[in-house]
Amino acid sequence: MENLEPGYDIPALPGWREDQVQTPALLVDLDALEANIARMAAAAQAAGVALRPHGKMHKSADVARLQMAAGAVGLCCQKVSEAEAFVRAGLRDVLVTNQIVDPAKIDRLARLAGMAAVGVCVDNAANVADLSAACLRHGTTLRVLVEVDTGQARCGVDTPDQAVALARAIQSAPGLDFGGVQAYQGAMQHLPTHAERQAAFQASQARLVPVLAALQAAGIACPTVTGGGTGSWGFEAASGLWTELQCGSYAFMDADYGRITGAGGSRLDAEWQNALFVLAQVMSLSRGRAVCDAGLKAMTAESGLPLVRGREGVTYQGYSDEHGQLDDPAGRLRLGDRIRLVPGHCDPTCNLHDWMVATRGGVVQALWPVTARGKVF
Ligand code: PLP
Ligand code: MN
Repeated sequence: MENLEPGYDIPALPGWREDQVQTPALLVDLDALEANIARMAAAAQAAGVALRPHGKMHKSADVARLQMAAGAVGLCCQKVSEAEAFVRAGLRDVLVTNQIVDPAKIDRLARLAGMAAVGVCVDNAANVADLSAACLRHGTTLRVLVEVDTGQARCGVDTPDQAVALARAIQSAPGLDFGGVQAYQGAMQHLPTHAERQAAFQASQARLVPVLAALQAAGIACPTVTGGGTGSWGFEAASGLWTELQCGSYAFMDADYGRITGAGGSRLDAEWQNALFVLAQVMSLSRGRAVCDAGLKAMTAESGLPLVRGREGVTYQGYSDEHGQLDDPAGRLRLGDRIRLVPGHCDPTCNLHDWMVATRGGVVQALWPVTARGKVF
């Protein structure tokens, strides 16, 4: 940190007040983050399931370390480069919740397995052979899980027979350990009501049950059933089938998750606190319009516009690359004002920034690099 110049290399220094932070900046509210991490850790423990938070959401080794300290068994990653970044930063158990088929990437993954416990998902027998050959070359062992499509129609095998055949192939492949099953249904996570998500979960469970039965009938022990996200984890945790949760967004939350409703009809942002903000600054008030400095290069908008926090009546109405249009009917905003925005979607927003500014009580406590920023390959 000594060689980094605030305002040039980094958006702030520890000890600065929030209104000194160079904007737009990614702000992490430590009280909210710690509360979310503790809450999910306690919920997983109470349900008797392991928690392996998804690191693709925050891409931060510092956040991952807080999750590990709270009892997480390891971290999920989506890409090999992301897994490498976390292992380089000291994380020692990563699961790539994805298929890796490119020979160069398979080689890197097998090499990484010599530095940490590394897992990966498969849905194809040729891929199993390639992973095994790479592990033999490197003298390493990969934990390989069969991904089952439980209704998202993304990756994963379709039938119990396919799952059994793949599990057998993994078991007999040198250099590979059969790690179990990944059953993640992403499409249900953001369904607006608890009842809709419950119905989607039941359909997803109905696809998993025959797979687990077929594995058992074939005499194949299934050590892990991993899946679940912020919108569904309660169902998986209570099912008695899933042994591990992969939730990611719960740690930071975003506007899109905030507006879906949980059991009893309350919003999810009443349950989980917004810990992630884009701090923006009002840079123009000409012609009665307020314009801030946070547009599409500061946060993504595919899941909806950001929400303005702590400024009654002020709303974020539209964006361009570097500008955000604010509606301020009472005319209270002043030039230079800092405003906190809750981004629509946390994962891709984190990937836009080099640094997270960790604050408590409006004072900067730490600067955290976004460790795996840009590691999307
Ligand atoms: N697991 C997998 C495989 C995912 O793709 C995702 C997110 O897309 C998650 C877990 C985490 O989901 P969430 O951020 O909704 O908690
Ligand atoms: Mn997401």
